[in-house]
Amino acid sequence: MAVLWLDEISADDLEQVGGKGASLGELTGAGLPVPPGFVVTAGTYRSFIEEAGIDEELFEAVDVDVEDSNALADAADRAQELITETPFPDDLREEVLEAYREVGDGDAFVAVRSSATAEDLPDASFAGQQETFLNVTEGRLLERVRECWASLFTQRAIYYRQEQGFDHSAVNIAVVVQQMVDADKSGVMFTSHPSTGEPTMIVEAAWGLGEAVVSGAVSPDNYVIPRESDDEVDVTVAEKKVMHVKDEATGETVEREVPEEKRDRRVLEDEEIEALVDLGERVEDHYDQPQDVEWAIVDGDVYMLQSRPITTIDEDASASAKADLTEGLADPTKGVTDGSGTATTSSTESADTTASDEVIVDGLGSSPGTASGAAKIVSKLDDLAKVGEGDVIVTEMTMPDMVPAMKRASGIVTDEGGMTSHAAIVSRELGVPAVVGTTNATSVLEDGQVITLDGEKGHVIEGKTLEPEEETEPVEEVRPQSPVKPMTATEVKVNVSIPEAAERAAATGADGVGLLRTEHMILSLNQTPEKFIRENGEDEYVTQLVDGIRGVADEFYPRPVRVRTLDAPTDEFRQLEGGEDEPDEHNPMLGYRGIRRSLDRPDVFAHELEAFRRLYEMGYDNVEIMLPLVNDAEDVYAAKSLMRDAGIDPDKRKWGVMIETPASALAVEEMAAAGIDFASFGTNDLTQYTLAVDRNNEHVADRFDELHPAVLRLIGDVIETCREHDVDTSICGQAGSKPEMVRFLVNEGISSISANIDAVRDVQHEVKRVEQKLLLDSVR
Ligand code: PEP
Ligand code: MG
Repeated sequence: MAVLWLDEISADDLEQVGGKGASLGELTGAGLPVPPGFVVTAGTYRSFIEEAGIDEELFEAVDVDVEDSNALADAADRAQELITETPFPDDLREEVLEAYREVGDGDAFVAVRSSATAEDLPDASFAGQQETFLNVTEGRLLERVRECWASLFTQRAIYYRQEQGFDHSAVNIAVVVQQMVDADKSGVMFTSHPSTGEPTMIVEAAWGLGEAVVSGAVSPDNYVIPRESDDEVDVTVAEKKVMHVKDEATGETVEREVPEEKRDRRVLEDEEIEALVDLGERVEDHYDQPQDVEWAIVDGDVYMLQSRPITTIDEDASASAKADLTEGLADPTKGVTDGSGTATTSSTESADTTASDEVIVDGLGSSPGTASGAAKIVSKLDDLAKVGEGDVIVTEMTMPDMVPAMKRASGIVTDEGGMTSHAAIVSRELGVPAVVGTTNATSVLEDGQVITLDGEKGHVIEGKTLEPEEETEPVEEVRPQSPVKPMTATEVKVNVSIPEAAERAAATGADGVGLLRTEHMILSLNQTPEKFIRENGEDEYVTQLVDGIRGVADEFYPRPVRVRTLDAPTDEFRQLEGGEDEPDEHNPMLGYRGIRRSLDRPDVFAHELEAFRRLYEMGYDNVEIMLPLVNDAEDVYAAKSLMRDAGIDPDKRKWGVMIETPASALAVEEMAAAGIDFASFGTNDLTQYTLAVDRNNEHVADRFDELHPAVLRLIGDVIETCREHDVDTSICGQAGSKPEMVRFLVNEGISSISANIDAVRDVQHEVKRVEQKLLLDSVR
């Protein structure tokens, strides 16, 4: 039998149908309303490669030295080609197509998704890409199934299996084929409060397909439903500007504007809320654990698309099929409505050493979460190839070229750097736990040693923690469906430094981007601007900037995105090709960077301004310009005149400055007179320059105190002056993510706070608390 129907699947079929298939089967079996479908079993994959006679060639193709990147790439290409280009044997083809014809009316749109089988469960990414294809019809069904199978042989998956000593020929994969529901309304539901566990259901709902909610494209309505009291349902109706729907002509999912009359209308009727609550209770009872459910409503009928436990289940994953199944349910790959927007981050399952309590390396916790994995010492770029999915990168200092490896790592540990170093910023944005500034990680830790790091405490211990619930999946923490975005008068924005993080940042529900650093876009070119322009021309340089900024501006539109002009110190640029032309400076932090450099090289600065001009021309009126490291009004007037020269009208666009030096704090009144719209505290630099503490020097890291009274006094005075002159104030340094700073700033009357991606939700709540207290105090 090539396929198993969802209603005939039980937990015992896990090996044949994989975690996802078993989860949907279990829900169907429990009588819950799941859209119909079937699973192309792992055995069918096996029959396919054997009957078609490609099995031997396939396993030979992937038997390569995975440390040789070229050989690995060739192996993956060959294996995938073998699978995708081999026709189905007749009997299998007929069985799969016949099953498809039984779904819906025979011409149904289905979702086709890979489902990792039991052997793969310790790490979902082990099975490869976790492919998802939406809106598939008969014509492309078999091709899509083969593409799911081929995802077993991505470079990453081959590398990982080899590293872990798994036999390629022992690994199987199943494929779920399920009818897509053409939802009128959809969303997510937490059956209990996701952080406190209180008996409160939280439902988020929007018009159309659930993808809009899951991807953060729309702010959904929010319903908070007490389960054990008669208290009223707390409803927050959002303005829903867009919806995702199926295009009738192509079957593709497209974004459409919500008709005017439905934008502010409540999505869910009382009876629908009741139906959802009933469903939520049944699912929670069934699993005996709070669930995170994706649902959809079509013609008044409620469907469940996916259900996962809210907390990671503390069970020995290998103990029983049931335990395996729960692991399968925890698979963060999304359901029918979405194949993207979440990432898997998991630890390696190798050398399962019990963790000891002894801290073997100590540094600064710079990106929250804990991670376990094999340490991979990276001392040169060639070493990056050995970093597999789930490993921990251990290096002196990260560099832009390391970003792809940082993405697949489960954690990062560096010798050098402070809370605002490249390693700290990028790992936070990627959601990878990190410890920086340890001084000695690369010499104390050994290649392959299994370690656990705590990105909050800054500790590294030997071995792997035995409590899976302590291993966080940071990307999951900011999933857009986290409930209840509090309404605040003070805006809460988010910082972005790598365009790849834009989607994750937008999904936080932040009110905009308070700081988009452009340095990382340039650093990833691996050439200084001068060298890049010499080799590729001015236009290509401008295009690079436009593309990088546009990715973020698009993701947030119409929410504002404050883009900072280039602020790269000479020591960072020296690492790039062409870096030999950088001046050799005794102290780069006090040197040739920020606006000083831009004003000194108006020819180079003009390209940045041209990028802004093009963006405005393209309609990105949400883009704002922010000037770094200004000292006084003279800097501002000079920059403003260059903006005019570049065809940007400073009276029409929003632009402003960073307050990063004590001089700029003291000169803000004059800068207000020069026409700035906003002043944003760069507390990383403001602290460094006020206290004379090099922000990247781990030897004085304990003296780096953004809450020092001197720093706070400068900030308080600037806010007061700006309020008098109608200039907005903001913070975009790291300190904006700290509750103490948030309390201080809201009390002082700051206009907005820009936080790290992982801190946005907490900052929103802190701001709300302070604002409520201020309101209460004023009426008492
Ligand atoms: C700052 O100085 O606080 C800031 C946000 O800028 P950067 O960290 O890029 O210097
Ligand atoms: Mg700065």
